[in-house]
Amino acid sequence: MLRWIDVIKYAKYSNPEPSRRVEKTEAEWQRHLTPQQFEVLRRKGTEPPYRNAYCKSYDPGVYVCAGCGTPLFNSTEKYHAISGWPSFTQPIAKGALKYLFDDSHHMQRIEAQCNTCDGHLGHVFPDGPAPHGLRFCINSESMVRLAEPEQQDGENA
Ligand code: FE
Repeated sequence: MLRWIDVIKYAKYSNPEPSRRVEKTEAEWQRHLTPQQFEVLRRKGTEPPYRNAYCKSYDPGVYVCAGCGTPLFNSTEKYHAISGWPSFTQPIAKGALKYLFDDSHHMQRIEAQCNTCDGHLGHVFPDGPAPHGLRFCINSESMVRLAEPEQQDGENA
């Protein structure tokens, strides 16, 4: 379980080593991504609140990075935060994201990036629901939701 103190430590000292790395040139990212995805992931842009794909969507599935396909969040950790952006209370795995101090826009925030391709996802705040208390405020454009593989009926649950 990731806690706020872990997020602070990652941002302050060092982030977990990712299991793989995806690196592309700016021109390659531009070809690979839609203009909206490029603006968020590679330019740290912010999409409009509410008018984005996953804000009000609670279908089951796994949210993967739109840049490199790395799984980032499970739909079971998604909750309604009234922020206008999709919000999660835990990442899918401890090393999936990296955390950096962000002093832009006259605010002190912690930025969340994909740990595999360094794509900008959004920010993390310590005002999420119990028991973890984390709120991952993430741009829809930085993710793609993949439906969960079909469950097999039978006794091997
Ligand atoms: Fe990525």
